[in-house]
Amino acid sequence: MRRELYLILFSLLAWLSPVGIIQGIPLGMTASEPIPANAWVAIDTFAKKHQIQCRLVSNQVILTKNGHRMVLTPGSNQVLFDGIKVFLTYPMEGGRTGGMPTRIAECRVRQLDVHYYLRPLWGLNLKQKRKIRTVVIDPGHGGRQDGTIQHGVREKDLTLKTALQVASKLRALGYKVYLTRHDDRDISLDDRANLAAKYKADALVSIHYNSAPSLSARGIETYVFHLYGQPGTHSEPSSDDFMPGYAYPFNGQSRCLGWCIQKRIINALKMQDRGVRSENLKVLRLSACPSVLVECGFLSNVQECKQCASPAYQKMLSDAIAQGIHWYFMDF
Ligand SMILES: [Zn+2]
Repeated sequence: MRRELYLILFSLLAWLSPVGIIQGIPLGMTASEPIPANAWVAIDTFAKKHQIQCRLVSNQVILTKNGHRMVLTPGSNQVLFDGIKVFLTYPMEGGRTGGMPTRIAECRVRQLDVHYYLRPLWGLNLKQKRKIRTVVIDPGHGGRQDGTIQHGVREKDLTLKTALQVASKLRALGYKVYLTRHDDRDISLDDRANLAAKYKADALVSIHYNSAPSLSARGIETYVFHLYGQPGTHSEPSSDDFMPGYAYPFNGQSRCLGWCIQKRIINALKMQDRGVRSENLKVLRLSACPSVLVECGFLSNVQECKQCASPAYQKMLSDAIAQGIHWYFMDF
């Protein structure tokens, strides 16, 4: 019955707005058994099932296993995994009102977040076979698209500089690497993502630099495609071409890749950890492989801009990104 409903809904949608939909499948999506957005999993049930230690310490849920540690806070969607922030789609429920202490049995996480964040990060999904890996590195912007321009630094120049260094470090580690551009030129988001499909890439990493109205904003953010039809870290669910029954097929892997890169950068460069976040980003959605977008520092912050543009930072940053990608392929 539900399938029929989807079919009718789709026919209607396809007829109304064929934009963004090819042969019945929303671009970048594959058919997927839907996980009801309002289904919950008790955190201690999840932990017990996978032999993860689970305890409550000063109103936070601490999961530990094999030297890894995850901290979840009732009422918050921010999780710390081995010290790195990851934003779940929804907050963990279980905070009690009126100053009552939290009870672990009442702490629960959305099944969507268990499926796409907790399971992949805890390495509970099937490991892939190792082979020579192909990676697409995407220097953001280029040509007429400058990206942000701050303190005399153009984002498009810096992204290219970083990407070229990441590429050469990955090649030294034995990877096959393609860049979406080698020089200052315009490339559409579709063409960037298409390159990943053309070369059957195992991962796409898009390199960007950040800016914000608040000049004190600083630090590193890594973005993954948001759970299709769900809110992003800072956005409402988008309904432009949403069709139930489909999902971006690389949700879990992208979150692991994002976490690996974010952790390597934070550890190596001691930058502020702004977390692994999710948004509706086209270049990620259209990539037919695990994909992330790294915001490598705030050019709008005068100190951080100077730091980002320095050769020492570029060297350490590109090393951390390459090592993060390598770590992902070794461990997840
Ligand atoms: Zn950018």
